[in-house]
Amino acid sequence: MSFESLGLSAPVLQAVAEKGYTTPTLIQEKAIPICLMGRDVLGCAQTGTGKTASFVLPMIDILSEGRSKSRMPRSLILEPTRELAAQVAENFEIYGKYHKLNMALLIGGVSFPDQERALERGADVLIATPGRLLDHFERGGILLNDVKILVIDEADRMLDMGFIPDVERIVATLPPLRQTLFFSATMPPEIKRLADRFLSNPKEVTVAPPASASKNIVQGLSVVPEEDKREALRNLIKDQNIKNAIVFCNRKKDVAILQGSLKKHGFNAGALHGDMSQPARMETLEKFKQGEIQILVASDVAARGLDIAAMSHVFNFDVPFSPEDYVHRIGRTGRAGNTGHSFTLASPEEGGLVEAIEKLIGTTIPRVEVPGMQTVEFEPSDGRRRGRGRGRGGSSSGRGSSRGKSGDSSRSSRAPRPEREPRPEMDARPEAEARPPREARPERDARPPREPRPERSQRESRPEREQRPERESRPPRDRRPERSDRPRHDRRDRDDTPAPMGLGDHVPAFLARPTR
Ligand code: AMP
Repeated sequence: MSFESLGLSAPVLQAVAEKGYTTPTLIQEKAIPICLMGRDVLGCAQTGTGKTASFVLPMIDILSEGRSKSRMPRSLILEPTRELAAQVAENFEIYGKYHKLNMALLIGGVSFPDQERALERGADVLIATPGRLLDHFERGGILLNDVKILVIDEADRMLDMGFIPDVERIVATLPPLRQTLFFSATMPPEIKRLADRFLSNPKEVTVAPPASASKNIVQGLSVVPEEDKREALRNLIKDQNIKNAIVFCNRKKDVAILQGSLKKHGFNAGALHGDMSQPARMETLEKFKQGEIQILVASDVAARGLDIAAMSHVFNFDVPFSPEDYVHRIGRTGRAGNTGHSFTLASPEEGGLVEAIEKLIGTTIPRVEVPGMQTVEFEPSDGRRRGRGRGRGGSSSGRGSSRGKSGDSSRSSRAPRPEREPRPEMDARPEAEARPPREARPERDARPPREPRPERSQRESRPEREQRPERESRPPRDRRPERSDRPRHDRRDRDDTPAPMGLGDHVPAFLARPTR
């Protein structure tokens, strides 16, 4: 099927052709004609499937008729993270280059006045994270009763991040007569219920079995003692032919520690997590996209949707709590026909989490050995740890020197080494990724405000809402293994000392007095 057969306008087709896309992806093929008909869409699709263009392209054509009023956007796209919102904005710029659509991007960590100006100008397309949108709404800076198209993207991620109450509040302020496009990578019952409430007679579009891992990703998993993970990661990085890689951690503070450790060992590493300021996040991401940073240590804020050209490797320094997050994390590589590699470092007590992932993806992740490292097995339910493979065998110098010696290979093989030849840049995304977010660009179609604004003092007296920090990666609602109950083997570099129990070291004098 060709793009021409989907019913898109000539200027949109030209922009698509200039981007270099010749054939629509499956989600584009299925969703675009339905969107153009004005029908609601319930899309079950992951990032990496071409999902963004499947709603951006028809929206450009639908919105090309008509003009927006000041502070009354004509369409609204809700995204769970700032990075995803910025990425959707980039898509509008690329595909909407032959249209005069005004866009406003409302994300946290960026100054309000710029965003207010973009709203005043009148936004045909408003792309926002829920918290910052509500901030503007509560300040009286925006009216949502002119929204004709609503897109809720990554609904299951919204659920994981606790944004659903905000989304419900926002949707309650929209006109009931509208077109709604609802996308989610998975359809757990909570999401299905939400879709049933928000959508009206939707056409369902599913392009891949929920949460299946791409066939283009060569996966590997190694069980190593928690305290050896950093060394294992370094060995893996040295052993692989890495172009660029993301290393995922479950905890924000581990991100910073691991980045520091990698830098100390001479690696070109950056960090990305939700506690960083938005400008710092954007800057780091830009450097990573441009190749100035080779290894990005990140929390799950980077797990979904980030579209980095031809990313060669993903490492899971921790097994994610949620099996779906595993699919999203490794989905950062192996995109657009490229082959990618993912390695997961599991500690012996993370067997339950790995089992849940393997159940979800319907296959066993191949066990691989990390060069020069001892591999162990998952703890059996009785809590005993069994060593196996080519351990250090009591020799403290055994790590490096044991490289290449054969061990118990009954279940595992050496981490597969990719070819050393330079890899072709199949997924080159040239200028688009280097661009700043849209609201930083010069105004295209400035128009005088048509409606009186509320008093500035009134607007500015409100506290900024979207200061909420990114939530730590957390186990899903009902699949959470009883992790916190289990004793964790100490990770040497962790700084979360256990909370004192009882009286701790301090015993009051009256208790220490001998009794008669
Ligand atoms: P998404 O799922 O929207 O994050 O898109 C994943 C990647 O596929 C992005 O790099 C897009 O630019 C790219 N892409 C989108 N549509 C097409 C297409 N029709 N042909 C080739 N690549 C595409």
